[in-house]
Amino acid sequence: MKPRRFDYARPDSVAEALALLAEHGDAARVLAGGQSLMAMLNLRLLEPAILVDIARLEELDTIRIAGDMVEVGAAVIQNRLKDWPELTARLPLLARALPFVGHFQTRNRGTVCGSVAHADPSSEIPLTLATLGGEVVLRSRRGLRTVAAADFQRGMLTTAREPDELITAVRFPVQTGNRVAFREVARRHGDFAIVAIAASVENAVATARGAAVVRVGIGGVADRPAVRRIVIDGAGAAKSAFEALAWELEGYDDIHASARLRRDLLRRVGPAVVEEALQCAA
Ligand SMILES: Cc1cc2nc3c(=O)[nH]c(=O)nc-3n(C[C@H](O)[C@H](O)[C@H](O)COP(=O)(O)OP(=O)(O)OC[C@H]3O[C@@H](n4cnc5c(N)ncnc54)[C@H](O)[C@@H]3O)c2cc1C
Repeated sequence: MKPRRFDYARPDSVAEALALLAEHGDAARVLAGGQSLMAMLNLRLLEPAILVDIARLEELDTIRIAGDMVEVGAAVIQNRLKDWPELTARLPLLARALPFVGHFQTRNRGTVCGSVAHADPSSEIPLTLATLGGEVVLRSRRGLRTVAAADFQRGMLTTAREPDELITAVRFPVQTGNRVAFREVARRHGDFAIVAIAASVENAVATARGAAVVRVGIGGVADRPAVRRIVIDGAGAAKSAFEALAWELEGYDDIHASARLRRDLLRRVGPAVVEEALQCAA
């Protein structure tokens, strides 16, 4: 199928992009890397009157350290962040997750912010952003606001973004340790995950009994990333935690997997991911 006719605008500045979004509201769509949007247009799942192309806005093509956050602008493509020399030191969990995002070719066009805007429940970038407690920066002609990643994604392909708002950046909190692990199960490498699991051991966790607190993020099982802190205080603790999570999150059926398979994968893979993160801590 082909998309319906639409107008195309390539603003020269963020201000111009915001003016277009304010003028057209719901009828406009932001075009970033086009890796998800073009498929949705071709299938006529979306029928915007105008696309506002932000991919070449230099003011959005920045990765910068702002206090204890790494801020990634909306024109930064996924491969650029993956190859950022400070990634492993500053954001080790994201360094583990990014190679799972699609393919070299899709990462060369797809943006970090576009993935967060698209809000697929299986996507690795929104999952990592939520697991780390990051935030989304939104601008419109009405002003600027930041939304916690945990509140931004509201459901399957649904976010807190208003039609006149542009995501100008996402902010990942800098990690102080490298005690992390990330794994996913997909039919082929580069496919969307059936289940994705991120784990990050929190620093100030060593207790007298040697327990550890691990922040885990789960993608592909609920309609948005699920993030929980679990206490690992002995053999079997991780297994019990993921058993409870599997029942709590339930899972969903689609053409890739049943809810039951998703729960089963969570139970089997989850404890191994936590164990891997804990081993990094040693
Ligand atoms: C073959 C293939 C395999 C893939 N595999 C994976 C995978 O394994 N994991 C994964 O996570 N993704 C995967 N993807 C999706 C891909 O990574 C996209 O890059 C990503 O989902 C969207 O980024 P984009 O920049 O291309 O956004 P676009 O496609 O341009 O936009 C997507 C949506 O977000 C909106 N949007 C984009 N940027 C902004 C912004 N700054 N402000 C407001 N709204 C915005 C658009 O209006 C649109 O609704 C795959 C894609 C393909 C084609």
